[in-house]
Amino acid sequence: MLVFKFGGASVKDAEAVKNVANILSNYKEDKIVVIISAMGKTTNALELVTEAYISKSPDLEKYINEVKNYHSEILNGLGFTISDPIHHEVENSFIEIEWVIEEEPSREYNFIYDQIVSQGEVLSTKIISAYLKKININNTWLDVRDVIQTDNSYREAKINWDLTEQLMREKIPALHNKSNLIITQGFIGGTSENFTTTLGREGSDFSAAIFSYCLNASEMVVWKDVPGVLSADPKYSDQTIKLDEISYHDAIELTYYGATVIHPKTIKPLENKNIPLRVRSFKSPADKGTSIASYASTKPLVPCFIFKPNQILLSISSRDFSFIAEESLSNIYRSFAELNVKINLMQNSAITFSVCVDNDPFKIPQLIENLKKEFNVLYNEHLKLITIRHYYPSTIDELLKSGAVLIEQRSRHTAQLVLPEQNK
Ligand code: ASP
Ligand code: MG
Repeated sequence: MLVFKFGGASVKDAEAVKNVANILSNYKEDKIVVIISAMGKTTNALELVTEAYISKSPDLEKYINEVKNYHSEILNGLGFTISDPIHHEVENSFIEIEWVIEEEPSREYNFIYDQIVSQGEVLSTKIISAYLKKININNTWLDVRDVIQTDNSYREAKINWDLTEQLMREKIPALHNKSNLIITQGFIGGTSENFTTTLGREGSDFSAAIFSYCLNASEMVVWKDVPGVLSADPKYSDQTIKLDEISYHDAIELTYYGATVIHPKTIKPLENKNIPLRVRSFKSPADKGTSIASYASTKPLVPCFIFKPNQILLSISSRDFSFIAEESLSNIYRSFAELNVKINLMQNSAITFSVCVDNDPFKIPQLIENLKKEFNVLYNEHLKLITIRHYYPSTIDELLKSGAVLIEQRSRHTAQLVLPEQNK
């Protein structure tokens, strides 16, 4: 059994959906679960709808209409006419949104967010499933909320692995007996009270890993608009090469440090069951892409660069110039944990603790204010963090030449540098 994942870019318009259908038509003999994201930038658009509803903005209707028109255009492009039942199903998704926004906002923001934003995935999978049927590719649409069960931490729901595994093993083989192809949603799950949750932005890769793990898939494939995993983001570097093979260990490290090609939570469940993950291009589906599995080493073994822009470096010291020791450290960590701020790099000296984090405009001012109750805090903005896995000393020397490195840290396989953003 295979698990495929198609992200928003792969289904962003009618042509893209046709391309996905074309890829799937090559796998008619295989049992597959296909996980699909919301179309194009729909999740962002539904976030705007949610914010407009909460803030009672006069633009609410305009934002909803944008999402409606975008999906109608795709339906037209796929040759559906108004009498096709899919139109009715799409309307139902918008009715669900309208039910939420008809009332005064009475529940917490994260709950409302999940009930509205999740419709992006419902819409995309309904449309794609209907299109596949229309061109005679037999498939079953599955409501993922019937199998992926979570707690009720809205917007960052935690998976109930035991229950999810049990439900998947009960339901999926029966559905596969009806048709080889199952179409379902990424990113969303359901609670025991039948509310919808989301797993965190870009969480569809993780959804696919959950299916792969619970059903012992023989392979998981993430179809992307790049040829595979590259040694650096072409946005920041003109010297990128495609990696052919990556060890699970390297993949975990690369995604942990911020490589955005795969969601960081994806690899561990696959590694636990030794399920290979392949990153392939939906633009050239005959190519092999990149394979992530239990390799002893990554191939070719070249330095891999991860660039994190928009960093801030906080230097925290005690008011009385006493040492930063265990007790003050534990208070500092608590301040970070309370606001859910992820530490990208840290360095401790006798009197200062330096931390590099994403400069989140909502969390960081609050974090600084909280820390200032007990410590002196200085900060440096407009920085970038470069992480190099499998670095050569010469790679670092080159970067150090710019002269402006604020922090440098090296371990055996990984080097990290904090630099001003304008430096290349
Ligand atoms: N549609 C969701 C997002 O854009 C989930 C995903 O694409 O993985 O965050
Ligand atoms: Mg997306």
